[in-house]
Amino acid sequence: MSKVKTARPNFVSTTNACKLCTPLGASMAFRGVEGAVPFLHGSQGCATYMRRYIISHFREPVDIASSALGEKNAIYGGGPNLKKGILNVMRKYEPKLVGVATTCLTETIGDDVPMYLKEFRNEFGDLDLPELVRVSTPSYNGTHTDGWHGAARSLVEQLCLEKAAPNGRVNILPNMVSCEDVRHLRDICDHFGLGAVILPDISETLDGPALEDYVKIPEGGTPIADIKTMSGAEATIEFGRCLPARTGGVSLEERFGVPNHRMGLPMGLRESDAFFEALEAISGTSLPRRYELERGRLVDAYVDGHKYVFGKRAVVYGEEDLVVGLCAFLSEIGVDVVLAGTGARGKGLEEAIARVTDGVARVAPEVREGVDFHDIAAEAGELAPDMLVGHSKGYRYAEAWGVPLVRVGFPIHDRFGGQRIRTLGYGGAQALFDRVVNAVIGKKQSDSSIGYGYI
Ligand code: SF4
Repeated sequence: MSKVKTARPNFVSTTNACKLCTPLGASMAFRGVEGAVPFLHGSQGCATYMRRYIISHFREPVDIASSALGEKNAIYGGGPNLKKGILNVMRKYEPKLVGVATTCLTETIGDDVPMYLKEFRNEFGDLDLPELVRVSTPSYNGTHTDGWHGAARSLVEQLCLEKAAPNGRVNILPNMVSCEDVRHLRDICDHFGLGAVILPDISETLDGPALEDYVKIPEGGTPIADIKTMSGAEATIEFGRCLPARTGGVSLEERFGVPNHRMGLPMGLRESDAFFEALEAISGTSLPRRYELERGRLVDAYVDGHKYVFGKRAVVYGEEDLVVGLCAFLSEIGVDVVLAGTGARGKGLEEAIARVTDGVARVAPEVREGVDFHDIAAEAGELAPDMLVGHSKGYRYAEAWGVPLVRVGFPIHDRFGGQRIRTLGYGGAQALFDRVVNAVIGKKQSDSSIGYGYI
């Protein structure tokens, strides 16, 4: 069995964290809603940092509003700034929804955002108000994935308030996946004849087409009307084996009886099988031939590429559910995950990894929660990995150890196209497998003086 070890207790600082700020995740999720503007209740610097971080990955303009609190507000409270800020956003953007996420500052001073928003609705009820959705995101108590899941749940709980007429749709809560993966999920649901409400849907809002004129709020995102009628769906599928106990899917099941299928991210063969089986059950449609073929090609590729990757050692890090999905995938292709790390704590990472690798993993990985790259680097010599698999913040460590970095997840700041990396379903596993095999081949080629042209 693997052991969960939190960050070593003999120091309190974090060096190159393996996690990001909580409201950053909430901002990304709000960005995946039609006509929405993310709004940070806090200081201007938080919004600037998050915008820069998100823009560098998605290569899209991203506006995040802020209540721009100063020292005075830290003492007297930020209510007036919040209200003024929302009015400004309404005037400049004409949004359909403003997603308000708190920051460290406003959480620390204890600003009562629900009360401020209630007052705002009372004071400005004569205006054409947008939907106002709030989420509490203290960054000292979570990661960007908490912000993402919290925002998704808030959208469901604050917008979907009544039982809607049955609409035959499936709700998909996809977790933090790429724009390409969201597009792929929609295609899959279409091929099963299922209308899907994907919440959030960043496929267009964070990876849009070139336009003649700048638009303040990009097209796309989950339609608000669809969120309001998620209660009429056939079922919800939410991806994640490390999700909070209370999520949008759980809320829909408890309040409206919409069956909630919680499963791992469909990464690799076995986790994808579980997803496709769920779609078969919900839709009453058997697996479309195109996916039978994709699955068959994936198995064929696994056989062909096995000789290159079997027994290689990988260090995997990133968001907790991505790490679980990568472990599921890597273990079934014969790669030994020697260390699996995430910046989050208390998410059941060890149990989730044990479950998805059961019967296929040759070794149980060392599992680290609350880890930073300093901790990972401290163990690297002993672990002797052949590759790193994770986001671009592992680059300098991969360089130092002379091993390839297979980039996946968020953020990817040192390569182009991070928003178009596909990992989900049989097709995503195929793309990932090809990249892993080629990383191993590339390393062998560059290390050799022979000049292999044929491997
Ligand atoms: S102060 Fe808190 S909310 Fe603001 S950027 Fe830093 S971690 Fe995020």
